Amino acid sequence: MHTEFSLMINGEKVAGQAGSFSVINPATEDSIYQCPLSSVEQVDQAVAAASEAFKSWQHTPDEVRKASLHRIADRIEANAQELAEIIVTEQGKPMFLALAEVGGAVAWTRYTADLDIPVETIEDSEEKRIEQHHKPLGVIGSITPWNWPLMIAIWHIMPALRAGNTVVCKPSGFTPLNTLRLVELMNEELPAGVINVVTGEGEIGQAISGHPDIRKVVFTGSTPTGQKIMQNASGNLKRLTLELGGNDAAIVLPDANPEQIAEAIFQTAFLNMGQTCAALKRLYVHDDIYDALSEALAEKARSQVVGNGMEESTTFGPIQNQNQFNLVCDLVDDARNQGATILTGGEPCSDKGYFYPPTIVTNISDGARLVDEEQFGPVLPVIRYSDIEDAIQRANNCPVGLGGSVWSSDPNTASKIAQRLECGTAWVNNHAEVLPHAPFGGCKMSGFGVEFGLAGLLEYTQPQTLNIAK
Ligand code: NDP
Repeated sequence: MHTEFSLMINGEKVAGQAGSFSVINPATEDSIYQCPLSSVEQVDQAVAAASEAFKSWQHTPDEVRKASLHRIADRIEANAQELAEIIVTEQGKPMFLALAEVGGAVAWTRYTADLDIPVETIEDSEEKRIEQHHKPLGVIGSITPWNWPLMIAIWHIMPALRAGNTVVCKPSGFTPLNTLRLVELMNEELPAGVINVVTGEGEIGQAISGHPDIRKVVFTGSTPTGQKIMQNASGNLKRLTLELGGNDAAIVLPDANPEQIAEAIFQTAFLNMGQTCAALKRLYVHDDIYDALSEALAEKARSQVVGNGMEESTTFGPIQNQNQFNLVCDLVDDARNQGATILTGGEPCSDKGYFYPPTIVTNISDGARLVDEEQFGPVLPVIRYSDIEDAIQRANNCPVGLGGSVWSSDPNTASKIAQRLECGTAWVNNHAEVLPHAPFGGCKMSGFGVEFGLAGLLEYTQPQTLNIAK
C-alpha cells in the first residue's frame, strides 16, 4: 500500500497543522495510519488557492477540461490495485467490491468528461436573440462519507471540475486515505489549486459549509449533518446538493417468484454490507410468498463468507466503524426483545473487528426501531402484508424518500405502484442501481438536488440569460 499521505493545498503536499489522527482498519481494529489533520487556517488556504485557480480554470476550453478528466481516469485505472487496497484496509469491504468501486470511479469520470453543456436558444426573432448559458459557480466544497468513499468523491468532484469550478474536498475521518491519494493523482494532471483536500471532523466541515468564498456545498451523509450544513450555508446563500440517508422500502407482490428474485433482493439490500444510501432497507412481502421468500433470503445470507476483505475467499466484510456496529447490534437486539424472529445471523461473529453476519429478521412490523430507523448495515427486516394499499401507505409513511422498489412478474402493474412511492428513484424488479447517465437524488428528508447525467452536471452551474437586442 502507498505509505505517504498528505493534504493537498495549491498543488503542494502539506502536513496537517492540527497534528494527525488514527485511521482504523475495521477488520482488525488496528490503527493503520496517522492521517494529517487540517487546521481551520488550512481550510482558508485551500479556499484561497481554489479561488485563485478558478480565475483561469473557468475559462479553459471544454476540450482541455475533457482531456484532463480522461487523463485522470487513466491514472486512476493505472493505480486501481493500490487504490482498492487502500479502500479495503480503511473501509473494510471485500477486494472485489473495492475494485468495482475503483472501476465505477473510472467510468463516472469518463462519462462526466464527455458531457456537454448546451446553450439553449429561447428566442431568435428580428428584434432579439435570447440564449441561456450555464456558467460555473466558483469554489465548490465537497464533504463525503465513509461507505463508498472514492466513488462518492468522484461523484462530487468530476462534475464540478467538468463545469469549470474548482474544489476543496473533505473526506470522512473514517476513510480519508483513498481520497488523499486520489487528489494526489489528480494534481499530476491539473493546475495547482484546482482540486485541494483537507481533513478533520465537525469543525472543519463547518469551516467549509460556512465559508464566505465557497459558492456551493455538495454533501453525502446523514440527515442531521445535512441540516447543520444547510443552516451554516445560509450566510452567503450557498447552493446545496444534499444526498442524505434513506430508509428504502421494497414491496413484493404476490405474483413474484421467490426463487427468481431472492438473489437480486439480497444483493441490493446487503450491498456494501448494507452501508449504501439507496440500499433496500425495509422489505414488505405479500402473505402468499412471505415464508418462501424469507427462507430464500436466509439461504443467501448463510452462504456468505464473512471475513477480512483482503482475503480472497471473503464475500462479506466488516461494518465500517464502531458506532455503526453498535447501532446494528442495538436494532437487532431490540427486534429480538420485541418478539421478532432472527431467521439467520443476529450476533456479532468475531471478537476482533466489526464483523456482523448478514441477518434476516421476520415477524416484525412498522413501529419496531429496525423498521422505522435506517439501519445502514447488514440486517434486513421482512414485513408481512396482505393488502397492497396498506403496503403502499406503510412504505410512504416515512420522513425520508431516497429510493423504493416493486417486485412482480408483471412489470406494468409494478410500474404503476412504483410511481406511487414517495422517493427520488423507483425501481421495478431491481433496487439501488445508480448509473452515470440517470439522475439520482432524494425527496423529503433524503435531501434535494440530483447527481449524474446532464441534470447533475447543471447543478454545478449558474444559469445566465443572455438577451441581445438586434
Ligand atoms: P455524517 O453525516 O456525520 O458524516 C458524513 C460527513 O460529514 C463526514 O465527512 C463528516 O466528517 C462530515 N461532518 C460531520 N459533521 C459535520 C458538520 N457539522 N458540518 C459539515 N460536515 C460534517 O455521517 P456519520 O459518519 O456520522 O454516519 C451516521 C449516519 O449517516 C449513518 O448511520 C447513516 O445513516 C448515514 N450515512 C449516510 C450516507 C449516505 O450515503 N447517504 C453515508 C454515510 C452515513 P467526519 O466524519 O470526519 O467528522
